[in-house]
Amino acid sequence: MSDHDHDHSHLSKMDARVRALESLLTEKGYIEPAALDRIIETYEHRIGPQNGARVVAKAWTDPHFAKWLEEDATAAIHSLGYTSRQGEHMVALFNTPATHHMVVCTLCSCYPWSVLGLPPTWYKSPPYRARAVSDPRGVLADFGITLPDGTSVEVHDSTAEIRYLVIPMRPDGTDDLDENALAALVSRNAMIGTALL
Ligand code: FE
Repeated sequence: MSDHDHDHSHLSKMDARVRALESLLTEKGYIEPAALDRIIETYEHRIGPQNGARVVAKAWTDPHFAKWLEEDATAAIHSLGYTSRQGEHMVALFNTPATHHMVVCTLCSCYPWSVLGLPPTWYKSPPYRARAVSDPRGVLADFGITLPDGTSVEVHDSTAEIRYLVIPMRPDGTDDLDENALAALVSRNAMIGTALL
């Protein structure tokens, strides 16, 4: 018996399952592989946290936009060309010295795709989903964040209908920066509420 009888597949179990599902759906005519590739390419390269960062930078520099974002985040975000495939309602959460906002989906992995792209692995992990609610300060500590005692933490649970975008506080000493330079400062995690700027 040769020693090459074992499985040489380099696919993980999950990859193999996805591959099998894709083949089946293609065979049955439910999906077109080229269209699927375009969607994946879109989410990998065109839709990502850079979109959310532009929303934040505009909110920092344009008070009218900030007000609109506060009142109707869905419309304000759409005005910048970021539209969701799922049509969910967007809510912008403005961090202040008094309140720090943090976003989770306790049920699964609901996430504001149109402005942040695909969710990071930790966002989908059971420990984050459970502890974000029961011990938000502990989770923030794991991310290296210690908030001042006077700052309260508000945790927001995303759903299929409502997705949240955290608007971090504008860092000090950035008065001279233009919108592009400001957007470059905004990290993905800061827009989930697990990082500060
Ligand atoms: Fe979910």
